[in-house]
Amino acid sequence: MKIRAAVLEQMGKPVPYSVSKPLIIEELELDEPEQDEVLVKMWYVGLCHSDLSVINGSRPRPTPMVLGHEAVGQVLQIGPGVDNVSVGDMVSCIFVPGCGQCEGCRIGRPTTCIPGAEANKRGVLLCGKTHLFRTGRGTDRQPVYHMGGTSGFATHAVLSKHSVVKVDQGIPPEYAALLGCGVITGVGAVTNSAKVSFGSSVAIVGLGGVGVCALLGAKACGAGQIVAVDLDPRKLAKAKELGATHTFLVHKDDPISKTVETIRSQLGGISRGGVDYALEMAGSGPALQIAYGITKPGGTTVTIGLPDPAVHLDIQQVSITAEERTLIGSYLGSGVATRDLPRYVDLYKKGSLPLEKLVSGIIPFREINQGFDMLEKGEVIRVLVNLKDEK
Ligand SMILES: [Zn+2]
Ligand SMILES: [Zn+2]
Repeated sequence: MKIRAAVLEQMGKPVPYSVSKPLIIEELELDEPEQDEVLVKMWYVGLCHSDLSVINGSRPRPTPMVLGHEAVGQVLQIGPGVDNVSVGDMVSCIFVPGCGQCEGCRIGRPTTCIPGAEANKRGVLLCGKTHLFRTGRGTDRQPVYHMGGTSGFATHAVLSKHSVVKVDQGIPPEYAALLGCGVITGVGAVTNSAKVSFGSSVAIVGLGGVGVCALLGAKACGAGQIVAVDLDPRKLAKAKELGATHTFLVHKDDPISKTVETIRSQLGGISRGGVDYALEMAGSGPALQIAYGITKPGGTTVTIGLPDPAVHLDIQQVSITAEERTLIGSYLGSGVATRDLPRYVDLYKKGSLPLEKLVSGIIPFREINQGFDMLEKGEVIRVLVNLKDEK
């Protein structure tokens, strides 16, 4: 079928994106869903820093590619073998497809799925193929790659059945869109990875969309102190509004040791000497060093951001041993989407996860480049593209 999609042809175009236009909306051909695949009409898709990292080239991916991975839509058609969703269901897209067969999947850790990671790296679906093509350029069809097995910046998408989870219609679709990236990653980092305990202290370094979801998760878990750390005072103001008990503005040019000392010296009460859990959400080396530096001995530092592959750790090794520290990675919130998403929807319905506070605006498809300018400037937490009425 013919669809319209925002195609990234070339990474690394300069800002402002409203001028350089890295994403061009064009007509593509989308193949029918095959075995274990579904066709989804996209409704709302969030603009996330992981998309931005591909646009600016810090996370290289094959091009031309259709980005967009924080998405919600409706199932229009199912291929043979699809047993987890039906036509008409509202589904959230999950950007790490767990194949269900490999060891990671079998032991209940689908975020470590090897075939899923391999497919994502190659820009194909779990079946090993792309279903998106450019036509009209001679007889050959030119493949267009998928991001995270989703490619949500489009009117329609074909996904593996392992990339979609049915979502209760009780949550408005514009908020359900956040479930598949910000919420599952941020809240999951707190609950599944750090396993934050009631009354403990939690620091969040980097208050973008995922960081704010972690803050909401820490609050829902009953954290006693929630410390927000960011370079942008607007993000800290928002964090305060959403429940941060302490906020710290980082000055980019300050040495990391000075930043760490300043934060540690100003923490008191249960955070004296550092926090129990520090979550790095910015995808940068300095952010992880700050998070590690403000974690107390015996505490846990979790890294969630996705830095440039060239970034390596710079951490004092002996402190891990002598201070019995734990440093862990958390991808997609170490989540099991079919288990976690219904829980998060219930928390939303009870008011414990006020996702409506994360949506800074909803823009039409044609303004997608301007939306990335807003994200790049840090003006917004989450901007959603409305694709519901796009034919
Ligand atoms: Zn994302
Ligand atoms: Zn697997």
